[in-house]
Amino acid sequence: MPVFQLPTIGDIFRARRVLDGQLPPTPLWSYPALDSTVGVHALIKHENAQPTGAFKVRGGLNLLATMAPAERERGIVAYSTGNHAQSLAYAAAQTGASCVIVMPENPNAAKAAAVRARGAELIESGETLDEARELAEKIAAERGARMVSAGNEPALIAGVATAYVELFEQEPDVDVVLVPVGGGSGAAGACLVASALAPACEVVAVQSSASPAAHDSWEAREMMRRPNRSKAEGLATGCGFELTQSVMQERLADFLLVDDATILEAQWVMLRDAHTLAEGAGAAALAALLAYPGRFAGERVAVMCTGANASEPELRRITQPAHLPA
Ligand SMILES: *Cc1c(COP(=O)(O)O)cnc(C)c1O
Repeated sequence: MPVFQLPTIGDIFRARRVLDGQLPPTPLWSYPALDSTVGVHALIKHENAQPTGAFKVRGGLNLLATMAPAERERGIVAYSTGNHAQSLAYAAAQTGASCVIVMPENPNAAKAAAVRARGAELIESGETLDEARELAEKIAAERGARMVSAGNEPALIAGVATAYVELFEQEPDVDVVLVPVGGGSGAAGACLVASALAPACEVVAVQSSASPAAHDSWEAREMMRRPNRSKAEGLATGCGFELTQSVMQERLADFLLVDDATILEAQWVMLRDAHTLAEGAGAAALAALLAYPGRFAGERVAVMCTGANASEPELRRITQPAHLPA
């Protein structure tokens, strides 16, 4: 079992220096219409406005920047349902490294096309992310390339944590930050930064009840495998990751589950009230405000809108009358 080092706040500030000049800060905006829908003062952190359409690019750029040149030369390999892949493809293209991505068959077509357009080699193979991971590991071993995990990567955590440094600079008086969780890198980053810069701020994680592995691992205090059926790709993981779970154990105030139907409703609310396109995972934090009315009454709540990369069928579902209030 490899031993992983958690990033320190120093690593996070170093990551921030790496990203400076490459990624402008993303907006933190509130919307009166949204506040009246959800009944709290919500501040949307617009990571949907990243060049890859998701926050993960912060981690990818930091990871490539912290690799030794000889290691970068041998390239990177990863398995992903989409945004992790786009982040690494983007960062690899910036640094001239080769990048192989394995996606399970029938991926979100928009995400697959974006990865190819960034010049990565994309292999669609396996029914599940676990099967894609096995193939990715085999390819990495054959080519001597660096295998990049979705959760147990300190440089990715340090990179994505910069979003929270930005957040607390933009608005120091946040009572709660709601973070959607798949592998848990984003939430781990939120915990590390909140501990250092905003000790009174609660970090609350959110996952889909159709893919509850991180939630159940957190509750059980051990790594759990769970069914993985959420339509929100960014949240769809089947197991807990040790590194991110260890941080969440220490610092999370709570971990909430929302169902996929509420996530879809939140995507609509995000579109209607905040004029913002969110993919399922990107609307999950907002879904927690819909699913737990009154839970955050009177608080200033930062809502991480982590990504915008909805597929075409998903775009149509968001505006389909069937799920909309009359
Ligand atoms: C990956 C992803 C998440 C979950 O992030 P983790 O760091 O894996 O927990 C949430 N939202 C979007 C849009 C994502 O791509």
